[in-house]
Amino acid sequence: MTAAERERYSRQILFPGIGERGQELLLQSHIVVVGCGALGSFHAAALARAGVGTITIIDRDYIEESNLHRQWLFEEADAAEGLPKAAAAARRLSRINSSVRVRPLVADLTPSNVEELLGGAGVILDGTDNFEARFLINDFAVSRGLPWIYGAAVGSYGIAMPVIPGRTACLRCVYPTPPGGVQPTCETAGVLNVIVSAVASVQVADALKILCGGELRARITTLDVWNGGIRQVDAPPRDPECPCCARGEFPYLEESSRPPVTLCGRDAVQVAGRAIELADLAARLRRLGEVRANEYAVRFLCAPYEMTIFADGRAIVKGTSDTGVARSLYARYVG
Ligand SMILES: [Zn+2]
Repeated sequence: MTAAERERYSRQILFPGIGERGQELLLQSHIVVVGCGALGSFHAAALARAGVGTITIIDRDYIEESNLHRQWLFEEADAAEGLPKAAAAARRLSRINSSVRVRPLVADLTPSNVEELLGGAGVILDGTDNFEARFLINDFAVSRGLPWIYGAAVGSYGIAMPVIPGRTACLRCVYPTPPGGVQPTCETAGVLNVIVSAVASVQVADALKILCGGELRARITTLDVWNGGIRQVDAPPRDPECPCCARGEFPYLEESSRPPVTLCGRDAVQVAGRAIELADLAARLRRLGEVRANEYAVRFLCAPYEMTIFADGRAIVKGTSDTGVARSLYARYVG
């Protein structure tokens, strides 16, 4: 550790759980944050300030005004520019701590790219908003023996749970299949910004403890910052019949065709596609309507819809939750 690093992280080094040895480990660590929305943007900021050496940020979406009340890294200008969250986060993090390496990935985590995106992580932090992504993370993490920290928040309530493969229950020990039925989301039930930071803090503390070699208890933390109550209970024991961590079946790692998906109750659909030359697309669409483009994405207004197309060929179609409508708009305008 350099003298400058020793000074910069001095108050953290004084904390016995970290110490000089822990700080050295953090400086050499790599954490992957999956989803850079409310939870993930807090994770990323805390990790950068703590001096985690390499931070990979994966996010598929762009910033909107309605994100700003709870997504701690982002500012009005980011929303006005319609920047992808991963790119805006990297820009902000470089100002917070220029010595950490940030790897921003504007991408949707899928079975085909999970190895490339999550491989090499010391710990994976869950900043996603859906169980499809969490089951994929769980299958990958358990198959590779990588620890990950589940987290979720809605309303004033939140939950966090670490998964240490081989030692603690995995997500499928607790939820054998993704919870069915309509789940409350931040878009339908609202969310307080402070429950997000509270849950994200619990997740980051677990991640730091793992990286510093501390012994982590297998427990589930639930909190409600409005109605009161913070509870920690021991996580259930590992299920000896768990298809994932006991039987070693990883169905979520298998690539299936990727149908369009409705995004977490926000009147938008994501359509998958193939890598695309954004400048060509922007030029083509300008003949048909209003286009805004930056180096990461092209936004095309086709009232009452709005499409944002990324370089990996994905599009987010806003203004509908009908996957058929989204697919046909994609076919018409992108190809
Ligand atoms: Zn399990």
